[in-house]
Amino acid sequence: MIKVEKLRLLKLLYQYRAIGFEYFKEYKYIKNSSNMLPNNLNSLKNVVNNCHLCNLSKIRKKVVFGEGNINSQVMFIGESPRVGEDESGRVFMGRAGDIITNIIENVLKLKREDVYIANIVKCKTQENRVPSMEEASACKPYLMKQIEIVKPKIIVALGSTSFHHLTQEYDTPISSVRGETLSLGNIKLIPTFCPYFLLRNPSSKNDVFQDMLKVKNLL
Ligand code: SF4
Repeated sequence: MIKVEKLRLLKLLYQYRAIGFEYFKEYKYIKNSSNMLPNNLNSLKNVVNNCHLCNLSKIRKKVVFGEGNINSQVMFIGESPRVGEDESGRVFMGRAGDIITNIIENVLKLKREDVYIANIVKCKTQENRVPSMEEASACKPYLMKQIEIVKPKIIVALGSTSFHHLTQEYDTPISSVRGETLSLGNIKLIPTFCPYFLLRNPSSKNDVFQDMLKVKNLL
């Protein structure tokens, strides 16, 4: 049983308990198409838009599923939606969005819609805090399914939260792996700084520029 199915089952059991059930004599898990994540992005998006697997569903305005070219060779993965994204339902908007768009256009020589962009969690956190381990774990199966469908050649992990949850290397600071070419299965993984970090630390833009040149050379 994959993680998202376990979480759904757990939620269902909580709901049964809330309406008075105290035990089940027997529970049989039957694997069928209704409890598997769909293999196409439109159907997956419908599932995610109706997701209530973690508490972030209570405060979100819109689910930010991700967007872009489903046949892209490169996928950018950030942390979580911010206010503008929560309102629009679109990933990386505003000044951080401008940074990512500039990188894509000026270094990779692509259009923003030529790449695929998503986040570790699909719903905004309170006051833009880092998503908890529970929230990231609940949401990660959706991201892994997106990766499975898009099949990118390269993933750019934008920031430490993205790097940590993609690799499970929670004790590795992003600064020690930034710009390295790592592996995620048979996908190349290049960690770099997040656009929100660059807004606070513009002097790091050149580091990200160098990292993106590596991405370009691998395409
Ligand atoms: S953050 Fe992910 S797991 Fe949590 S409610 Fe939103 S879509 Fe579901």
